[in-house]
Amino acid sequence: MEAIEHPEAYAARLQAAARARTLDGWALPEADFSPQPIRRVGVIGAGVMGSGIAQWCAACGCDVVLRDVNDAVLARGAEVVRGLFDGAVRRGQLAAAEADAGFARLRTTTGWDGFDGCDLVIEAIIENVAAKRALLDELSRVAREDALLATNTSALPLEEIAAGRPEASRLVGLHFFNPVNRMPLVELIVGRATSRPAAEAALAFAHRLRKTPVICRSAPGFVVTRVLFFYLNAACRLWGEGVPTGALDAAMQAWGWPMGPMRLIDEVGLDVTDFIFGEMAHYFPDRFARTAVCGRLLAAGLKGRKNGASGGFYVYAGREAAPNPAVTADCPACDLAADEIARRLMQVMVAEARRCVAEGVVHGEADVDCAMLVGAGFPPARGGLLFDAR
Ligand code: NAD
Repeated sequence: MEAIEHPEAYAARLQAAARARTLDGWALPEADFSPQPIRRVGVIGAGVMGSGIAQWCAACGCDVVLRDVNDAVLARGAEVVRGLFDGAVRRGQLAAAEADAGFARLRTTTGWDGFDGCDLVIEAIIENVAAKRALLDELSRVAREDALLATNTSALPLEEIAAGRPEASRLVGLHFFNPVNRMPLVELIVGRATSRPAAEAALAFAHRLRKTPVICRSAPGFVVTRVLFFYLNAACRLWGEGVPTGALDAAMQAWGWPMGPMRLIDEVGLDVTDFIFGEMAHYFPDRFARTAVCGRLLAAGLKGRKNGASGGFYVYAGREAAPNPAVTADCPACDLAADEIARRLMQVMVAEARRCVAEGVVHGEADVDCAMLVGAGFPPARGGLLFDAR
């Protein structure tokens, strides 16, 4: 009889396996492309993700040039980078001199200075296909022909960003998670045109950044965005049927999640959540019925908790959070048992995760489990999403 593995042992084994991951078994076109060792990294977009990526690359020894079109954002981005280095010193992770040396590896620009010397360029601009395509157009005129190119898109297939372009063979997705310095997961996205040398170089870079890579085929939302936002949308649907904010979150925390779905939406931001709901509805029109509540909250000026905003499904006072009394469903409160809430919401997650495996977005259940563990806070005590659902 097959021995039943302990869930926490399984979770630990997954993460060790991810750190030793290779591209064996992935059919990728060979290409006449020889990426250089990655010493200098260009990061485009100095917003939430670009600043975090720039800091982490500099902390891992790369020279970094960070670009934004907006001077004020660029200055704030540099401040964020400095703050992240200072935080690492306070926590004893870096010596002050190492932090200073790391920060000194960062340059900023509103132009393209320094991009012709980059071995890798990562774009982290707004989530919009036309904007990313236009950027690739500009970038192709300044970047070296042997520069590896990466997008940090949360959900867009690479084919939409680079279809028909000669750069497609050296483009990968490097999907980092927020905050970059603390989240171990990087989804490495390979598109239909991504060449083996490009994917190999990107995987080696993810290892060098001490990240836990999970390799995904380019498909809308890859794994984590897709599975998580189907779940959050289902939670919003129950909310719309009258299940109170606190009951939803308490049920999922009792199941083992560090945070319930409504609080998570506040943390991610109502704007980002509603936008990704829109992306999912676009890519999965038959199965994703976009709920309206996040849009309603946004229209009422409630953005969640991100960037100093103070209200969404909850109102916040310092560390305290209480369900927002101004936010109520259009129907009487519905008294659904915690077990039933968890059963319904986990069923949505599991179904979507199984589809990712069946469609070949990842090479097996272990990859989904690993991605959800290190990228979405799945409770290790349960082993993994699909491991738990066996
Ligand atoms: P953001 O709005 O905080 O930052 C985007 C920045 O890009 C802005 O400062 C903007 O001025 C700049 N920009 C726009 N066009 C530019 C151009 N042509 N050249 C240079 N700079 C330009 O966005 P964000 O949250 O950091 O997201 C960036 C990307 O990362 C998106 O694709 C998003 O889907 C993805 N992502 C976001 C998160 C997250 O939690 N926020 C997580 C993973 C991935």
